[in-house]
Amino acid sequence: LPTSVGFIGLGIMGRPMATNLARKLPPGAKIHVHDVVATATEQLYTAFPDMVVRCANAKEVTEKSDIIITMLPEGAHVKSVYLDAETGVLAALSSPAAAESTPKLFIDSSTIDTASHLHVKAQLQAHSPTSLFYDAPVSGGVLGAENGTVAFFLGCSASDPNVPRLASLLQTMGGQVIPCGGPSLGLAAKLSNNYLSGIITIACAEAMDMGMRAGIDPHVLASVFAAGTAQNRICDTFNPVPGVCPKAPSSNNYQGGFRVQLMRKDIGLAVDMARRVGARNILGATGLGIYAAASDAADCRDLDSRVVYRYLGGRED
Ligand code: NAD
Repeated sequence: LPTSVGFIGLGIMGRPMATNLARKLPPGAKIHVHDVVATATEQLYTAFPDMVVRCANAKEVTEKSDIIITMLPEGAHVKSVYLDAETGVLAALSSPAAAESTPKLFIDSSTIDTASHLHVKAQLQAHSPTSLFYDAPVSGGVLGAENGTVAFFLGCSASDPNVPRLASLLQTMGGQVIPCGGPSLGLAAKLSNNYLSGIITIACAEAMDMGMRAGIDPHVLASVFAAGTAQNRICDTFNPVPGVCPKAPSSNNYQGGFRVQLMRKDIGLAVDMARRVGARNILGATGLGIYAAASDAADCRDLDSRVVYRYLGGRED
């Protein structure tokens, strides 16, 4: 494992991921962190004062680290962190000192559009041909980040010589690391996954409500789906109907979990990707409309994405 790592973006996902990383790094290792919200780095610093070094910007993180992980909201944030000429990663890579230093490895775990990723990669390689830049978005939500069980979808082929090095680092924060074939394909895989999971959620919400209104107990209905051809993880583990899965966000007034606004973002990115690659995408527009409206609804906003059950008028008694 490396002894000098950078971590930029310590939000809902980044903070627990960086915490798990800090627990596994060897003695004497340093984590250089940065977030635009200064308080975002406080918790990690307090937990690991000897290891965590708080930095003013991405440039400083890059100068001080061999491997840099980013966990940012959207493509615009990723572009700003990497490409800002004054404070960004590029500013560090463009300095005379950078030419002397060992090549840096960058891992972006944000869920963003593939075009933004490839643009940043091209810019980095133009300034620093030896630098490596991989997309490695995650799946598994906040609980997965806290428990160190997120899956990473890696934007490279399984035969990439850096896979063992990447996997050993990423496995400090998660479980499976799946190489998806090439640059930006980790993102394409993540968007395909979230498209499927978002659409299944809507179908599950509708099917549960339909069966319950017909008179079937929700627990019985969920066990029917689990035994039948409709079996799926959303229904089994994250059932959108309150009370069916006691540990699911739906049973805790949809607190925690995967925010409905993030699902809106990801379905939107998936719909754009489908258009770009020429894939038919009939359910995308409907799904996007539902998640967009739920994101704006006062009784759903900021809650777990499975709150679409409530948005669609599902019974909660
Ligand atoms: P978040 O908004 O909680 O965290 C993002 C962090 O980045 C914030 O602390 C923010 O201050 C920081 N940031 C923004 N712009 C910055 C900049 N220019 N420089 C430095 N820091 C900056 O978001 P999150 O929930 O942690 O999600 C991060 C990414 O992971 C998103 O792309 C999201 O889609 C994806 N994701 C989230 C989940 C989830 O359940 N929350 C699950 C899987 C993937």
